[in-house]
Amino acid sequence: MCRHGLDALLSVTLSPQCAACASVLDTPLAGPICARCWRQVRMLSGPLCRTCGDALPSWRIISIALEQCPRCRRGRSAVDAARAAGHYEGPLRGILHAFKYEGRRSLAEPLGAMMRAAGADLLGDADAVVPVPLHPWRRMRRGFNQADELARRLEVPTVRVLQRRRATAPQTGLSAGARRRNVRRAFTMRPSCRGRGAAGCSKGAS
Ligand SMILES: [Zn+2]
Ligand SMILES: [Zn+2]
Repeated sequence: MCRHGLDALLSVTLSPQCAACASVLDTPLAGPICARCWRQVRMLSGPLCRTCGDALPSWRIISIALEQCPRCRRGRSAVDAARAAGHYEGPLRGILHAFKYEGRRSLAEPLGAMMRAAGADLLGDADAVVPVPLHPWRRMRRGFNQADELARRLEVPTVRVLQRRRATAPQTGLSAGARRRNVRRAFTMRPSCRGRGAAGCSKGAS
């Protein structure tokens, strides 16, 4: 049976639902998210703050040569540059929820592609990607570490140099300040990586 026929059969007999909007999937073999939800994801588009990646009003590019948002112009940050792929709302919120909390591991592929496109200017010069580790019990319950799944799709060597020192509350619903406090001193370098180059740490628990 061709893929189209199998899709139709699955759709009619099992009526699998889109993991984001719950409508019946026309092409379940294409993944757990319907085409309409993917189309409605709002990607972040320029102009962007060259430091934190936040969207800028277009006039700022003309009036301020630094191309930075007010927050980044006010103070120094520990982060030199950051990028986000899309607006965390509507379909993308549902897609990420399905990925993280409903075990939809296959979503790492299209989400990784989104990250590669959004971060192309930074990833081109990157030496390595360091995924943030999950606490072991959460990793066991989820079955995978979503950060590791995404990191492995960025086409840059993945270096698992961090380990978690303690479990932290979910960041969902917390303000920016509360998020920072939540993860303060939560991570450290894996003992086996200390004093070794990135290559020595490329393997390890995800
Ligand atoms: Zn949908
Ligand atoms: Zn900024």
